[in-house]
Amino acid sequence: MNRRLPVADGAAVRRRAVELIGAHKGAVAAVTVIQLLAALASVGIPRVLGAMVDLVAGAAGAEVAGRLQGLIAVVIALAIGNAALTGCGEYLARVLGERVFAELRERLVGSVMHLPLSVVESAGTGDLLGRTGRDLESIRTVVQRGVSQILVIVLTLLTIVGAAVFTSPRLSPALILPLVAVMPAMRWYLRHAVPAYRAMNAMWAEVDGVVAETADQAATVDAHGLGRRRNRILDRAMIEVWSTEQYTLWLRIVLITALGLGSFAPVIAVVAWGAWLAGHGAATLGAITTVALYAVQLRTPVSEMTFWIDSLQTAGAAMSRIVGVELVAPDRQATNSAVTGRPPRACGVSYAYLLGHDVLHEVDLELIPGERLAVVGPSGSGKSTLGRMLAGIHPPTRGRVLVGEDTDLTALTEAALHREVALVTQEHHVFACSLADNLRLARTDATDAELERALKVIGAAEWAQGLSDGLDTLVGAGGVQLTPGQAQQVALARIVLMDPATLVLDEATSLLDPSAARSAERSLDAVLAGRTVVAIAHRLDTAVAADRVAVVIDGRIVELGPHAELLAADGEYARLWHAWVSD
Ligand code: ADP
Repeated sequence: MNRRLPVADGAAVRRRAVELIGAHKGAVAAVTVIQLLAALASVGIPRVLGAMVDLVAGAAGAEVAGRLQGLIAVVIALAIGNAALTGCGEYLARVLGERVFAELRERLVGSVMHLPLSVVESAGTGDLLGRTGRDLESIRTVVQRGVSQILVIVLTLLTIVGAAVFTSPRLSPALILPLVAVMPAMRWYLRHAVPAYRAMNAMWAEVDGVVAETADQAATVDAHGLGRRRNRILDRAMIEVWSTEQYTLWLRIVLITALGLGSFAPVIAVVAWGAWLAGHGAATLGAITTVALYAVQLRTPVSEMTFWIDSLQTAGAAMSRIVGVELVAPDRQATNSAVTGRPPRACGVSYAYLLGHDVLHEVDLELIPGERLAVVGPSGSGKSTLGRMLAGIHPPTRGRVLVGEDTDLTALTEAALHREVALVTQEHHVFACSLADNLRLARTDATDAELERALKVIGAAEWAQGLSDGLDTLVGAGGVQLTPGQAQQVALARIVLMDPATLVLDEATSLLDPSAARSAERSLDAVLAGRTVVAIAHRLDTAVAADRVAVVIDGRIVELGPHAELLAADGEYARLWHAWVSD
């Protein structure tokens, strides 16, 4: 079932944004001061130009020429000062933007890594990919550049308006009023844009999800002839995206038109009103020139503001989905860090992926330290689910999985849990980084010697040493491609580094080709030595080699005992065994 991840409300997004930026108060203050000085230098220029106009209009002669030269020097100095300050402010602002974005991205990755697995599974690939991909990308520019740019725009606008009022209180309303007139259009836009952008991002996430799932499961889609159906689902999602995109485009056009008027109207109004005032002797030519130049200067920040307000809306919607990931309640309170080294035991454990649909029913299972227990049963009977409970992946819906006297497995900190029990599945991923970093995923503080020892234990030392840069060789996408067997050995070396007391194997070698499986099994044997092992088995020969066998049918353990004993009892296990042998 698809349950979307939460979406944060406006207040939570604002809190988070303030928190993010607030962590860099010093840098924000430095950018503000420098940009304010730059803005002051910039408004100084029209003021001096106005003085020059008044000077020329008022008199002529050698003295005027001398004063004009002085004023020209001031204009040049102000222009140079403005350029230098803007460059410096821009540099600091970009560094600040990069830092804030990096922190946001790291925090998102951290939240995603600690999401309860059940939440990830029910939310689906698309939603999570949308948030870590498209959403993050759509706020990249706003965070990296926008925050400081908006600061600059606001400072520039305030400085220009302030300078206009200071230059001529009579003329300045002509500059300010057209801007005020644009406000209702802005408010209308803001009210409509946020929900529209939020809906659009969610729809894009759906499209991403459909595409990712179809590509991931291409073989299944082909095998069942589901191509047309998948296309129809994609078409439907695309049509919704299309109509929402059209709506947001229309909103943008209204905003751009309003702000376009807002940027031209002040120039016309200042010149017209200035001409009238000059006619009545209430304004000098210099003052009109200065304020008219301010009106021209306003056009850049006003039109840039259009772009940023629009980006801010998209970013706000994306940000609410990014911050939403942080709102997922943890599925455990991991506080206990004591390691017992004893195998876990299930006490009355039930589990439901979907509320009300238990797939495990009050299972009790006590593992004997050091034993190998094979879990067998028909497909879909709940073996993997039981394995995940015993490995502490999901907290049980009812009942408890305990270690030691009375400690819930899910109350253990991540580090302690990894020392108690680990799950090895048939999925093993080689990350695109060095072999050493791939191994250190299991234990970040492992030394090179420990990594080499782990590789030796599982019989991978030879090929690992043969790599061009040894442990530092880049593997995975873009680096050395490891064979499936080697990839599994890397996964097993991680287990050696984690050194858990109990291992749960979920069909750990079943996907490999037979020759790889044999060498992988040898590696596996080295890893299993000295540990309690729960092996979820599809091949019943695993059961023969085990100390005990648990037979799971319909979410219950119906038989438990050594292979020979269960065979003699002639029950469910005997039936499974005979069916398997005769296959
Ligand atoms: P087995 O390992 O014996 O094949 P599983 O433990 O994988 O069985 O599955 C037990 C039941 O739980 C099955 O009916 C399966 O469809 C269901 N199930 C497994 N994983 C999920 C999941 N992520 N979401 C919903 N149902 C699931």
